[in-house]
Amino acid sequence: MITVRVPAKVNVQLGVGGLRADGFHDLANVFFAVALGDEVTAEAGEAGEGVTLTCTGPDAASVPLDDSNLAARAARLLAAHHGLTPNVRLHIAKAIPVAGGMAGGSADGAAALVACDALWGLDTPFETLLELAAELGSDVPFALVGGVALGRGRGEILQPLPVTGTFHWVFAVADGGLSTPAVFRECDRLREQAGTGSSEADVPTPDADPALLAALADGDPAALAAALVNDLQAPALSLRPALADTLRAGTEAGAIGALVSGSGPTCAFLAKDAEAAVAIAKSLEASGTCRAAHPTYGPVAGARVR
Ligand code: ATP
Repeated sequence: MITVRVPAKVNVQLGVGGLRADGFHDLANVFFAVALGDEVTAEAGEAGEGVTLTCTGPDAASVPLDDSNLAARAARLLAAHHGLTPNVRLHIAKAIPVAGGMAGGSADGAAALVACDALWGLDTPFETLLELAAELGSDVPFALVGGVALGRGRGEILQPLPVTGTFHWVFAVADGGLSTPAVFRECDRLREQAGTGSSEADVPTPDADPALLAALADGDPAALAAALVNDLQAPALSLRPALADTLRAGTEAGAIGALVSGSGPTCAFLAKDAEAAVAIAKSLEASGTCRAAHPTYGPVAGARVR
């Protein structure tokens, strides 16, 4: 039996370009892997059993256990790549909020690739795992790589970034999720409504912010807090106005930076140190503006056998 630990992500910069003809947006996406994560276990199944899946955790009821689950798809994709018939029992111990903007499904996909590769003794080159990950979804390669990385294109072309030290975070989990495609649609709608246009020709191609990259390289939480930016925050707030109360509650509790995580509705708060993160999480839970709040830290490694 193999157990793989995999991180969730927060986008410390998420710049969204115009809508492309293929329906995607060009992104300038600085991914940051945090210790809040899932564990995926792979155990050999009987011959003919195929891929089976179980899930535990507070959000387990909203995790699909059919073929649409990214962990199951990953096991099948890896097996097909090697010409194998997969017989594997996958189990997800889920801590990452579901549909929370923290790429939890993508994390499980990456973890299942690593777990099945080890279980089946395949020794697939990392470059090949990255290609399979990109086939599964834009955010899956980053969950393999971990650390901090700049994602270009749809987010799948990754360049690892230098970071000094550890940053302390709090994640406030909302009730219910937000659909990522719906948040992108709302982003386009708000741009049209503002009269700026939403197509590739209207919106400048986003680029990584040099001040943000310097803050990461210097290990400077105050500078990182000042540079945090998410172009999906306004559309997420438009679809879920109550998130403004969560962001305010975290800031009032002493967070030095606050933003919606990815497409939301999870909110991310940067704390000045580990002690402050614990205090901010307590205040957020007491504020009644979120379902739960978790102190954590990063960057951490990508999907790894435990
Ligand atoms: P992202 O930020 O990558 O867009 P997210 O963090 O907002 O994603 P996920 O937790 O990945 O959202 O879930 C999005 C949807 O993916 C879920 O509503 C669910 O239907 C589907 N899904 C597929 N596989 C999984 C999985 N292993 N865990 C959770 N959701 C999954």
